[in-house]
Amino acid sequence: MIDENTPRQQAITAEVLRLFDTRGDSEYGGEAVTQREHALQAAMFAEQVSSPPSLIVASLLHDVGHLLHRLPNDAPEQGIDDRHETLGANWLKHRFGPGVVAPVLLHVAAKRYLCAIEPAYHEGLSAPSRLSLELQGGPMSAAEAAEFTRHPHFEAAVSLRRFDDSAKVPKLATPSLEHFANYIDRVAAEEQA
Ligand code: FE
Repeated sequence: MIDENTPRQQAITAEVLRLFDTRGDSEYGGEAVTQREHALQAAMFAEQVSSPPSLIVASLLHDVGHLLHRLPNDAPEQGIDDRHETLGANWLKHRFGPGVVAPVLLHVAAKRYLCAIEPAYHEGLSAPSRLSLELQGGPMSAAEAAEFTRHPHFEAAVSLRRFDDSAKVPKLATPSLEHFANYIDRVAAEEQA
């Protein structure tokens, strides 16, 4: 069979695998999973509900910003917002289209949104996530929340956020990074077309 992946797609996928290889074992901000485990769990949850490939890739790469910066894992405890969603989205926009970039950029805003509209959501956040929420601006106001619902990628951002929040289960079995690499190839191809 002919390999239909272009050198560009292969390069993007290789780059992602390398990033997880070199930085993926770091702790996921005060949670009991590594960055790699967190990413794989988020992508698995997206795949389980038949999300579009772009959202599966966005879920896998939503915290890529954490793999790109050199701030300590406990930055929030030091009062530092690492702005990883912006860092990640800027990296992704050179490699993917808006179906991947927008939900990643908005996944912090989606947390602020859900805290505003669902009191139980705020209660259910892990302690590290509640701490970073304060640094990220706290829950949205009613006006901000209403405006957020009009964003074209609103639904994808909220779905990603829920996969993200669930993806903190110690020792949960997931497919491998290589399994999700197929989606990266496909999405990089589609969004270039
Ligand atoms: Fe996350």
